[in-house]
Amino acid sequence: LVRVEGLRKSFGSLEVLKGINFEVNRGEVVTIIGASGSGKSTLLRCINLLETPDSGHVWFHGEDLANSRANVNKLRESIGMVFQTFNLFNNKNVLDNCTLAPVMLHKCDKAEAERRARENLAAVGLADFVDAPSTSLSGGQKQRVAIARALCMQPDLMLFDEPTSALDPEIVGEVLNVMRDLASGGMTMVVVTHEMDFAKNVSDKVVFMDKGVIAEEGDPKQLFTNPRQPRARAFLSRYL
Ligand code: ATP
Ligand code: MG
Repeated sequence: LVRVEGLRKSFGSLEVLKGINFEVNRGEVVTIIGASGSGKSTLLRCINLLETPDSGHVWFHGEDLANSRANVNKLRESIGMVFQTFNLFNNKNVLDNCTLAPVMLHKCDKAEAERRARENLAAVGLADFVDAPSTSLSGGQKQRVAIARALCMQPDLMLFDEPTSALDPEIVGEVLNVMRDLASGGMTMVVVTHEMDFAKNVSDKVVFMDKGVIAEEGDPKQLFTNPRQPRARAFLSRYL
């Protein structure tokens, strides 16, 4: 579904991505792990063009998002993104948070958008909160709304950037459970996370980033029990 080839990105003189190659097949869950500053967020942001790559390709649905002639807006509508800080519209209630984009972008009419929103909110366990002001929610509830909102655009691909890092430890689980359900429902997902249990048990592939390159990638069970690269081993030793 996604193929990244030779992706490079610098901020000024700092080269953050030094030629990244990887792919995500339909229905796969790929987690990206690595130290702070290794380029994980930048890679994710290049996939949906929140950052413009300096060179390389990002193939999605057979089109190169890094090519200025691609219909980026159209393609981007089918990529959902969930951030560490939920970025809800604070002046809107839960339902409106979910219906705004599909209606504005003419994905569907208001009634259909509401139907979908209720369905997705129920799926994340928030059926009783549709009319609640988004400011009244806990962090875990906000993040679940953010996931439901992204799903309302009916994406083919969901990107998550440390979706549980801003949450109190006792509510991390409720968000991870929603993500686990989404994965078992067949959603294609790329997840930057420090939740090693999730990476190990839910993902099909783990990518370890180190200083702007993919230092190691592969089967989670193999990577977590017997990493080949010394740097991956050193990184993981803090978690295992
Ligand atoms: P973290 O685990 O802390 O989120 P990360 O792996 O996601 O780290 P990135 O956010 O991709 O790392 O950042 C990689 C490097 O690029 C960092 O040194 C960061 O300071 C720098 N950087 C990221 N975005 C920008 C920007 N817009 N302008 C300048 N430098 C940036
Ligand atoms: Mg980051």
